[in-house]
Amino acid sequence: MYGHRSDHAIVLGASLAGLAAAAALARRFPRVTVLERRACPSGSASIAPQGVMPHVLLPGGAQALERLLPGLLADLDTAGGGHATVENGRWWSEGWRVPYPGDTSYAPLASRGLVEASVRARVDALPAVRFEHGVAAAGLRVRDGRVIGVVTDGGRDLVADLVVDASGRGSRLPAWLEAAGHAAPPVSEVKVDLGYVGAELEGDLDRDLGGTRWAVIQNVPPATRMGVVLGVEGGRWLVLLGGYFGDRPPADPDGYRAFAAALPDPLIADLLARRRPTAFHPYRFAASRRVHFERARLPAGLLVVGDAMTSVNPIYGQGMSVAALQAEALGALLDRGDDPASLTRVGIRRLAAIADQAWQVSVGADFAYPATEGARPPAVAMINRHVARVMRACTIDPVVCAAMSDVQYMLSPPSRLMQPGIVLRTLRAQGRWRRAQTRASTAASGSLPAAPRTAALAHASDHVPGAEATSRSSAARSSSSQAWR
Ligand SMILES: Cc1cc2nc3c(=O)[nH]c(=O)nc-3n(C[C@H](O)[C@H](O)[C@H](O)COP(=O)(O)OP(=O)(O)OC[C@H]3O[C@@H](n4cnc5c(N)ncnc54)[C@H](O)[C@@H]3O)c2cc1C
Repeated sequence: MYGHRSDHAIVLGASLAGLAAAAALARRFPRVTVLERRACPSGSASIAPQGVMPHVLLPGGAQALERLLPGLLADLDTAGGGHATVENGRWWSEGWRVPYPGDTSYAPLASRGLVEASVRARVDALPAVRFEHGVAAAGLRVRDGRVIGVVTDGGRDLVADLVVDASGRGSRLPAWLEAAGHAAPPVSEVKVDLGYVGAELEGDLDRDLGGTRWAVIQNVPPATRMGVVLGVEGGRWLVLLGGYFGDRPPADPDGYRAFAAALPDPLIADLLARRRPTAFHPYRFAASRRVHFERARLPAGLLVVGDAMTSVNPIYGQGMSVAALQAEALGALLDRGDDPASLTRVGIRRLAAIADQAWQVSVGADFAYPATEGARPPAVAMINRHVARVMRACTIDPVVCAAMSDVQYMLSPPSRLMQPGIVLRTLRAQGRWRRAQTRASTAASGSLPAAPRTAALAHASDHVPGAEATSRSSAARSSSSQAWR
């Protein structure tokens, strides 16, 4: 138990970060109140506006949620569309497919709404937790450098020993801190001007895709476009197209199709040529944002999780996993039994370290585009050169690929890629990669025929890396992928 009174904790926000935090607190506090300004969503809708967009729950986040709420992944497997594996998906990234085998790569094939509803149902069943929907926190109550509770928008005072802010990117906490006489925390922003449009595809995609349940076509600089397709619960198929720096997908069937035609892997364009996209949801994400609460002097008994601390570029699919990993860390921090001042001081740094791992990966990757603006992480150009070499080595060396996948899946911190063994294997693989590229370019400039678009669909469940290639450059890269096998 934490502190000297330790009987009531308040969580602000009942989206993914708030729910995960409540799950962690419920084992340590007899009473946990979750304040949420919106009404409770019905069925498997998400409470968050972005919840209508296709979301990917990365394996690192899925595992953390399972540890917090045992049985959750079985719930999702039953109610959802199963789970993503290397065998039932394909990931295009400069020609390499993520060939990482093993159970740890589990990620549910479920809509964001279903993930959230399943988490909410399990949290709701915890005896310590009580939700107050339709009630917004309007300020903090601070006395003698310590949080003693919150005041609601209805003017009600709620007393608590610990307040966890999970109120998302629009959190008012910096303003409340200022009102309580504390300096507002510094903020870092990295502008990418990402345009995102989610949609659903009608029709029998199982037949079209022959066993493939998910595909990610990653943007590789200088190309600014990416796409995702996901088979989720109820036989629904979600699709997502995105583009950087104002290269926005149109939210109409013809424009959407035309946008997808420029993706380096033709799978999504082929699907869109056969199946009608409906239910368009445009979303603009201007900038990643990191609020450095760890650099501010916070009152004791206050912590921050989720998007309120770090809102990263959604194309890397990290937000829910950051929230889950932070909630798990919150539980471990409480188990130390620190007093409230130490909990806040040590805890905010620990939570920030988790946020920073996601920030490093996403912002680092975004700075591979010269047009990205904002707070440049130290040594980003050098790190990006190393990551580019790691990506190439992935097509040759499964050990490097496993390390890369673990980092992308939030199962390992980015420092894993800097371990001497991985650095050595990466460097050794470069020569083989270049030779494979040369052989592939020679073949491509010779007799390689352009594959018909439909071939990509026929090959969708074929596991030869690069079988998807139709363009000359893709073909060149795919041959290098074959070298890995
Ligand atoms: C377009 C888009 C796509 C994304 N795709 C992915 C993905 O594929 N994978 C992934 O892991 N993540 C993704 N994310 C990020 C993910 O949605 C968030 O990281 C996740 O929802 C956790 O956020 P959160 O709970 O901290 O904040 P939010 O989800 O924003 O929720 C904050 C909650 O706090 C409530 N609230 C706000 N103020 C108050 C107040 N004063 N009092 C009480 N309640 C309050 C709000 O009503 C809301 O319910 C995406 C984000 C966007 C924008």
